[in-house]
Amino acid sequence: MTTKDLADLIFPNITKTIEDYEKEYPERDLPEGAKVTRYAPSPTGFMHIGNFMSATIDYVMAKQNGGVFYLRNEDTDGAREIEGAVEYIRHVLEHYNMNPDEYEYRDTQETKGIYGPYIQSERRDIYHAFIKHLIIEGKAYPCFLTQEEMDSIRESQTRDKKRIGIYGRFAKYRNLSPDEAAEKIKNGEKYTIRLKSSGDFNKKFKFNDLAFGEMEFPENDIDIPIMKSSNLLPTYHFAHLVDDHLMRTTHVIRGQEWVSSVPIHHELFKTFGFKLPKYVHTPLILKKDGDKIRKISKRLDPEARMTYYEEKGYPVYSVIEAIMTIANSNYEAWRESHPEAPFTEFEFSPKKMSASGALFDLDKLDNISKNYISKLKATEVFDMLDTWSKEYDKDFNDLINKYKEYTIEVLNIEREQKKPRKDYASLSEIKGQIWYMYDELFTDVTYEFDERFTKEDINEVLTTYFNEFYDDNDDKDTWFNKMKELTDKLGYCSNMKEYKENPDNYKGNVADISNIIRVGVTSKSQTPDLYIILKLLGKDRIVERISKIK
Ligand code: GLU
Repeated sequence: MTTKDLADLIFPNITKTIEDYEKEYPERDLPEGAKVTRYAPSPTGFMHIGNFMSATIDYVMAKQNGGVFYLRNEDTDGAREIEGAVEYIRHVLEHYNMNPDEYEYRDTQETKGIYGPYIQSERRDIYHAFIKHLIIEGKAYPCFLTQEEMDSIRESQTRDKKRIGIYGRFAKYRNLSPDEAAEKIKNGEKYTIRLKSSGDFNKKFKFNDLAFGEMEFPENDIDIPIMKSSNLLPTYHFAHLVDDHLMRTTHVIRGQEWVSSVPIHHELFKTFGFKLPKYVHTPLILKKDGDKIRKISKRLDPEARMTYYEEKGYPVYSVIEAIMTIANSNYEAWRESHPEAPFTEFEFSPKKMSASGALFDLDKLDNISKNYISKLKATEVFDMLDTWSKEYDKDFNDLINKYKEYTIEVLNIEREQKKPRKDYASLSEIKGQIWYMYDELFTDVTYEFDERFTKEDINEVLTTYFNEFYDDNDDKDTWFNKMKELTDKLGYCSNMKEYKENPDNYKGNVADISNIIRVGVTSKSQTPDLYIILKLLGKDRIVERISKIK
């Protein structure tokens, strides 16, 4: 029996060759310098911020020179698949406007691109053709080690402080003849297919990672499994080889946890004589925790999960800016000189990533976001708030839509000016800052009056002001002059300089008066422009409100 016979025994129905597939997946016809990137998540967990950073880099690097960004569903681990994970990935890409150029969505049966299927479990035959080729060439073999045997090998290796894995004398079935292997298979013995590695652990090779720079690794001498016995699908390593070769990926952007697998991938590509893609291993995302810096954790840190940003209502722009800022050290400077440009115009340079980890800071995100939101039009903020609250605060959504024009005016307070207020980092913060503008929410309030003033003082200021002075139609100057008149009339001082010289001659000053009015109307001692707030609320509603102060 030859290795070809053995390969036919294992894969009787696989007739296509590697060459056939290479014809089906031709070189891509793209402009010079265009990159082909892919986001290749395993649907075994919900997308976290590290995944998002990789996907963003995939996207920006592809868009930079007219390349292709595609989505590949790496679902070879059926048992660990989480329901809804794929749909969520799609949702996130849509939400952040980073839709892939090629994809396949099983639920809606949508697909785009000629390099599919883009779902690994649908590519079984393709992988088998590649594995079959290796068996024929004597570069892969069926391995009959049982789980117990492998456990005991691992134990002995741990005990003897040896490298873990199936290599050298541990690779017991590596040199079985095709006849011996065929007999075991015919007897129904379970097996996996392993690579017959050709590397020498004592030899080193150089590898250039676009982010981490030049690195040196020992060659791989481990006979890694390339096909799982459970579902006959390839292992990650093997699928990476086949898919990124056939789909003509030029840049593999993936988390730094894969750096240690480089020797395996190097060997696999060499074995087939395929060109190795370029690799960009993305750094870990770190966070400050007290005075320590540690890896961000899905378990400990809500902001590690992508759901956090949508729940809080951070604008798409803010999140992408924050990620780009930590992904590339010159992004911020670029943004300053290109305030209006879409982030895809930024020339992303993997060299400018921080190999030691990317420090993610929520305060920084808040700053970016406050700045961004402050520059939007009130109508734009309204639309964003409307979309967000529809999903996350239905009652508030009803309220802002019931009073839509009014809400837009409220959102416009101190907005269209040279230095707009930077109040909100996220949409979920808005209600907490404008609630007092809605009578429906103005119930059970706690007034923040200054304790220096008695109930009688407060009552006197409010009733005199609204009965004798305040008029909704006053312009700002008139309004302010009236406030001063009221101040003097009630024995407070409207001239701050004079007040400071003789404070004991007065009950208080003009700032105290405006503060009593502010608190009386809104309950808060700090608000944006009081003049506009009063105008928007209108005298009738105000009088009603102050009549209820006890
Ligand atoms: N499926 C792998 C993961 O989710 C992808 C790694 C890669 O991008 O190659 O970690």
